[in-house]
Amino acid sequence: METRSSSGSTSESVTMVIHNAVIVTMDSESRVFQNGAVVIDKDKIKAIGQSPDILQQFSPLADQILDLHGQIVLPGFVNTHVHTSQQLGRGIADDVDLMTWLHHRIWPYESNMTDEDSYISTLLCGIELIHSGVTCFAEAGGQHVSGMARAVELLGLRACLTESIMDSGEGLPVSWGVRTTDECIQSQKKLYEKHHNTADGRIRIWLGIRQVMNSTDRLLLETRDTARELKTGIHMHVAEIPYENQVVMDTRKVDHGTVTFLDKIDFLQNNLLAAHTVWVNDTEIGFLSRAGVKVSHCPASAMRMLGFARIREMLNAGISVSLGTDGAPSNNRMSIVDEMYLASLINKGREVYKRGTTDRTALPAETVLKMVTVNGAKSVLWDNEIGSLEIGKKVRLFWFLLADMVVINPFSWSMVPVHDCISNLVYCMRTENIVSVMCNGQWIMRDKKILNVDEEEVISLAKRASSKLLRRAGIEIPSRMTIL
Ligand SMILES: [Zn+2]
Repeated sequence: METRSSSGSTSESVTMVIHNAVIVTMDSESRVFQNGAVVIDKDKIKAIGQSPDILQQFSPLADQILDLHGQIVLPGFVNTHVHTSQQLGRGIADDVDLMTWLHHRIWPYESNMTDEDSYISTLLCGIELIHSGVTCFAEAGGQHVSGMARAVELLGLRACLTESIMDSGEGLPVSWGVRTTDECIQSQKKLYEKHHNTADGRIRIWLGIRQVMNSTDRLLLETRDTARELKTGIHMHVAEIPYENQVVMDTRKVDHGTVTFLDKIDFLQNNLLAAHTVWVNDTEIGFLSRAGVKVSHCPASAMRMLGFARIREMLNAGISVSLGTDGAPSNNRMSIVDEMYLASLINKGREVYKRGTTDRTALPAETVLKMVTVNGAKSVLWDNEIGSLEIGKKVRLFWFLLADMVVINPFSWSMVPVHDCISNLVYCMRTENIVSVMCNGQWIMRDKKILNVDEEEVISLAKRASSKLLRRAGIEIPSRMTIL
């Protein structure tokens, strides 16, 4: 038997039909199917529409038909700033100042990490990401990218992996040894050759710049040119604290901070994912917008360490702003669901500083949902294949988006009653409401069970690896209370 799918192509069978679901497509028309269905063929979305129509057309051809009984289906969430190799360091730097955080906790932790630690850390981090509905993430730049890649391949996630890159700076750990500019670029080219487009195309290698204060001008420019040559992205921490802007003004002779300097040297491009980007003025927002730079907003981490980012202004300027969790020592929770809730509240609350009163319309629910789907996909330069549930269309050309999706059970105490599905997803949904996650057409979590690794085994491995790592690094976490 042969049928014609909604894309106009033909096929003889399909892998799965999911039906009787509320489908929030996040497509350009913001369509929501109240009784919708999705057809998946191998790793791609073959068709989408009303359940009766889809069932009539595809049920005779489907290997599997799944009734979701009114549960919600969304595109998989994209977390655009994650430090996977820091997961074993959760809780090592709570309630300490930034310098203690960096010099006495994070750098010793990172400089004593092994490839196996990075693998275990990424497994633990990935489990938490999947539980919060993430199918794709952007690594912010860490140690032992090969360990990360092994874990991502096993978990079944999609990721843009990045090495932590620095070729200069004060007070760097001796054990790292500061690498030369050439070593930095060569190391990343090797990683690109080894891992780019591996794991059925789920892993991409990006270039990294840890931050401007640890980069020579030559490293910045060679990174820009290498990214262009390899057709990949750059992930960089940008304008995190006022001190950074001051150092840039003093050493690079510009009249404002990092973004002004990066614009001056022609570093700003549309393949740059700028993390945090808290301390920027109106002119700099204009620079970012004109260059098509993407911004990753990490609400929890910003509140802990950086300050209020100017997210509403950046969105108004047309910048693609997405959401990230940052690393476990900066946030502790690696749930993008929590970040959605925080993003809306923090940016509403921030209006108090601007107008003396909150503004309930700042960052509405549909904007926040876009940030974790469509904008997330744009930020990782993957929006031609992920970020929405639809059949792709170009003039006279059809292509299929990849089947990355999340199934949400809204029938629990935390989400009932559901008067407005979009609001509930942002203001009520908890990580616990996420029941199943599919990446690249494969379930990686079903009924809250992680499928590709043994969760309990990873937890016990992580506990052991973390204790050993902290001992090697000489990190002691003083007790807050008197232990009797
Ligand atoms: Zn970061």
